[in-house]
Amino acid sequence: MMREDTIAAPATPPGRGGIGTVRLSGPRAGEIARNVLQLPPQPLEARRATLVKFPDPEDGRILDEVVVTYFPGPRSYTGEDVVEISCHGSPVILSYLMQCCQALGARVAEPGEFTLRAFLNGRMDLSQAEAVRDLIESRTLYQARVAALQLEGSLSARVKPNQESLVNLIATLEAGIDFGEDDIPAMPWEEIGQRVETLRQDIGALAETYRYGRIVREGLTLALAGRPNVGKSSVFNRLLNMERAIVTPIPGTTRDLISETATLDDIPIRFVDTAGIRPAQDEVEQMGIEKSRQAIADADVRLLVLDVSEAWHAEDSELILQMCRLGPSVIVANKRDLPIRLARSAIEKAVLSCQASSSPAPSIIYTSAKTGEGFEELRDHIISAVTGKQGQTAEGEWLTNARHYEVIHQSLQALERAQQAAAQRVHHEMILLDLYDALGRLGELTGATDVENILGVIFSKFCIGK
Ligand code: GDP
Repeated sequence: MMREDTIAAPATPPGRGGIGTVRLSGPRAGEIARNVLQLPPQPLEARRATLVKFPDPEDGRILDEVVVTYFPGPRSYTGEDVVEISCHGSPVILSYLMQCCQALGARVAEPGEFTLRAFLNGRMDLSQAEAVRDLIESRTLYQARVAALQLEGSLSARVKPNQESLVNLIATLEAGIDFGEDDIPAMPWEEIGQRVETLRQDIGALAETYRYGRIVREGLTLALAGRPNVGKSSVFNRLLNMERAIVTPIPGTTRDLISETATLDDIPIRFVDTAGIRPAQDEVEQMGIEKSRQAIADADVRLLVLDVSEAWHAEDSELILQMCRLGPSVIVANKRDLPIRLARSAIEKAVLSCQASSSPAPSIIYTSAKTGEGFEELRDHIISAVTGKQGQTAEGEWLTNARHYEVIHQSLQALERAQQAAAQRVHHEMILLDLYDALGRLGELTGATDVENILGVIFSKFCIGK
């Protein structure tokens, strides 16, 4: 499995800094380091940092003092011999060091190639390799924590028992087919159905975690809507804790979409403050209103702002109905610091008409963008409106990645087909096709296929060789 070429790349981001590191991986990593640096004559000690000099190969003059660390394979990040050379973080030195390594035969690594090698050399499975990328790209500590758990292999551990029971079920059915004359009782269809049902429920629960996991990883988009002058921009600013949208008492000034990213409960949120929806006065405003409608439709969650210091507007009922049809929404009853003219019962009545249209009823939160009252509660509701009740699933066992969700979903579909086939008492061979499919999909999550193990399981469990 070992790759023959040795790769090299700066492991630290471009730019100046205290330290800049070049990483080498491959069979010639140690040799290249020895030729580039002034190393002591004895072999480098494993996993120990050594201070050495980096001379210019042209004239032998010292360019930098560097720290070199040798990680012999297979107990290294990539599973191959790895050398890390940390110099002072000067782009000039780093690029010259890279040139020297290349001159000695190292190839510049492709993006992600160190982690690819780690995967190919069995140091980590696919879901762990993807977690490395997620960890590096995380924007909040929370995202980093979830990625770190997945890097430890929590997602792989979560599906492993499912893979094992599928392998067992397949092995049992295969044995019934292959060795039918050898007194091995074939499994009754009811039992197959029950075993598949248990699997289907467990994998289904995993698929459900994507609802929240996707948001943890990618963040969510939140659209603010409402009639002009109800306080959308002020609510937006309060939520963002900054003055970004222009707040003004003249209706219709928020003409364009204003978008801003912030974090709420450690989840990245893109707020889109939309132009007031109302009959447009001119073409520019008409365009703004069209954009608003689109943003409201595309958002993960919608905030409909009402002004409780004003009497009920027919337009508000219409907006409530429209919003609820589009998905999770929260009603923000704003300006509660002023004398209240809009009765809670009127809002509730409009919300009830939503429920009749079979979409989830939005919660109603009273706020004052002026005093800040109600904003804690609003933050909590925004998160729970999108995620629903997440239950007790451990963070590391959430599906956060669209590819993972896709393979889990396909595995689930294959199990459903197997279940139907069992219910229709179809021949075991046909059921097996779906079970293999379900197993293969689970294997795609980690990049490992357990299909080869099946014969092993048959022989170890069933004593067929008698
Ligand atoms: P938008 O057109 O919906 O974006 O509304 P703005 O945020 O521009 O606010 C319109 C006016 O209402 C401004 O004068 C704000 O200062 C005022 N306003 C917004 N929220 C509140 C609030 O909670 N209480 C009070 N008293 N005034 C508010």
